[in-house]
Amino acid sequence: MSLRKISEHVHILPHDTERDRPNLGYIAGEDYSVLIDTGNSPAHLIEMLDEIEQNGLPTPKLALITHWHWDHTFAMHAFNGLTVAHRQTNEILKEISEWEWTYEAMDERLASGEECEFCDTHIRKEYDDTRTIQVEMADIEFEDGLRLNLGEVHLNVIRLTNPHSDDGVVAHVEEDKVLFAGDADTGDYYKLDGGYDKRQFHDYIGKISLIDFDTYIHGHLEPMSPREIKEEWDRIEKEEALH
Ligand SMILES: [Zn+2]
Repeated sequence: MSLRKISEHVHILPHDTERDRPNLGYIAGEDYSVLIDTGNSPAHLIEMLDEIEQNGLPTPKLALITHWHWDHTFAMHAFNGLTVAHRQTNEILKEISEWEWTYEAMDERLASGEECEFCDTHIRKEYDDTRTIQVEMADIEFEDGLRLNLGEVHLNVIRLTNPHSDDGVVAHVEEDKVLFAGDADTGDYYKLDGGYDKRQFHDYIGKISLIDFDTYIHGHLEPMSPREIKEEWDRIEKEEALH
């Protein structure tokens, strides 16, 4: 994968469905740069950092985590800068940091429903040896939201109720009008087998519609225009009968 330029200050490393690697974001300011999510493994993070270096861009100092899911967080321990997450994300990461990663322990979590099947399958694909997995909490946690001044560009981090996970923030690159949404408008694979909570879905799209963006970046889809994401929400609403 190669780094793709989205706007003046924003690049992404495009997602890879084969190993369930999400889009990773990179925002370069005059003073410092920030990653959006660290990736699903140290190998994924290294691919991103190599691309940043090869493009002559500054090394990111901070990594903002959109939500706790493995594909966004399992490289946190391998990131050299500071990691930042919402308090609830950190609480969940704390629990998961105690999980064991032998195939036996993974089978047990699958059987008990603690792990989702889609995640388990892709974790086994991404890691040759799952016992090397390390989960850690973020260095910095926040409660309501966060505004970062990277120099000439600002990142607004907003906690939003969403149908995908109990935690979850979106990150708005103000000057570039780019919105990183994590996987927020996808269903919940842990509790509802990919299904939707109707109230959370409408709450989410209602709040997102108030944000001024030209590009919407979902974790596992191509970047979309406001018109395209609205069409996507209409499709979800129909398919999932969320009227
Ligand atoms: Zn997710």
